[in-house]
Amino acid sequence: MRTQLYIDGKWVDGSGKMPVYDPSDGSVIAEVATAGEAEVEAAMAAAHRAQPEWAKTTPRYRSELLRKAFELMVEESDALATLVSRENGKVFADAKGEIAYAAEFFRWFAEETVRVPGDFRMSPSGDKRILVTHQPVGVSLLITPWNFPAGMATRKIGPALASGCTVILKPAGETPLTALAIVDILERVGVPKGVVNIILPSPVGPLISKMLHDPRIKNLSFTGSTEVGRVLLQEAADQVVRCSMELGGNAPVLVFDDADLPTAIEGLMVAKMRNGGAACTAANRVYVQRAIATEFTAAFSKAMSELVMGPGMTKGVNLGASVSMKERNKIAALVSDAISQGAKVRTGGQLPEGPGAFYPATVLTVERDNEILKHEVFGPVAPVVIFDTDEEAVALANDTDFGLISYVFSGDLARAIRVAEAMESGMVAINRGVISDPAAPFGGMKQSGLGREGGFAGIHEFLETKYIGVQI
Ligand code: NAP
Repeated sequence: MRTQLYIDGKWVDGSGKMPVYDPSDGSVIAEVATAGEAEVEAAMAAAHRAQPEWAKTTPRYRSELLRKAFELMVEESDALATLVSRENGKVFADAKGEIAYAAEFFRWFAEETVRVPGDFRMSPSGDKRILVTHQPVGVSLLITPWNFPAGMATRKIGPALASGCTVILKPAGETPLTALAIVDILERVGVPKGVVNIILPSPVGPLISKMLHDPRIKNLSFTGSTEVGRVLLQEAADQVVRCSMELGGNAPVLVFDDADLPTAIEGLMVAKMRNGGAACTAANRVYVQRAIATEFTAAFSKAMSELVMGPGMTKGVNLGASVSMKERNKIAALVSDAISQGAKVRTGGQLPEGPGAFYPATVLTVERDNEILKHEVFGPVAPVVIFDTDEEAVALANDTDFGLISYVFSGDLARAIRVAEAMESGMVAINRGVISDPAAPFGGMKQSGLGREGGFAGIHEFLETKYIGVQI
């Protein structure tokens, strides 16, 4: 298990240490090195030094490195998933799914790097030729959250390396071990020194601010809460650092009266419970049409009540721990508030006895003005609301500052597409609970973010477009 920082091709001790906990029992898994000013400076210097040579490498060379990293991740997926499950609390099956998803970003961008298109054409007046090409933005700071410690790292490292950018990765303090293991894989496949660096700055805010005010940092790719994203956008403004932001969500699920109920329940269970509900894409507000509301809510509550909660590495468990007691207590407080505003508990809602950051699968029926609908719960809690007409459903779904993803369940594809087109979200899932795919553009509208990760758009977050006008 790697516990040191990786700077300029060397594993180093850093300026201090911090513990990483197993949230299922509160025990310390490891002590990891933290970065002070000296290590932050060393990482920026290394990434800056390595940038010109890395930018000159051929797409095929970068592609082969990423392809090898994909293969190693797949070979070592059990060990990586164990790390994810232990430091994050999610169940092992979810962690294995995350590693497969994460590895795919290396494969996808190995394929993308050799296919970045350019453009050559005559100007409309015929006076010149228009050449359009793409160049790496430069040293990129990558900041990731704790909920997908592998997936969020590779979704950024993959396109950054593919495009010819060097990187400094800053994983979440709760879950650094998986990111360190991924960097170890990149070292083993032969990524040159200085191209990938990983640091855990302490204190985080001031040191990241310092980096965003350093002219060597050209690009920031952040995934995390809207609250922190907003601060970082302000910090980045001083040097006009280019930003991509994958921020919070508050995903609505619309279940129409013509939906196939087993499909809708199955889809909602995945949309809500993947990662124990700790996903930016997690179903957060469930709107059900009146005619099917009783039957649907009963079936959904039954499915939720049958989940087995426990440590993520235990066989038969399908709901693990939250990442920390702090996060677990936030979930409990949101549910208590909702109940005090009139929510009815259909299942769950009680804190379990004993150690570990556990919260049970919970279904609430709530009125439209319940405050819980305004918050990203980030846990296994689903508030259910009844609606009558399609117009009302769309208005309720869009009544939020967030706009990452929406889910629509309907047996009428034309109706589902009409609703999907009216959703103010960057992604819409129709009749399924998961649509994240390295080959598709992931990202949000409104305060859920700026830019897209994955798909054909992902690599362009790390490329500058250059236009060359040629006199003919
Ligand atoms: P967070 O508190 O915003 O933290 C995210 C990252 O930012 C962590 O690495 C954190 O470091 C760092 N950070 C915190 N304060 C900072 C500061 N002042 N300056 C620089 N960096 C700072 O989010 P989280 O609790 O880890 O993750 C949950 C959030 O992420 C949810 O809102 C979720 O919706 C969102 N998310 C979005 C997507 C998406 O693709 N749209 C995907 C996954 C998650 P420390 O851990 O060291 O504090």
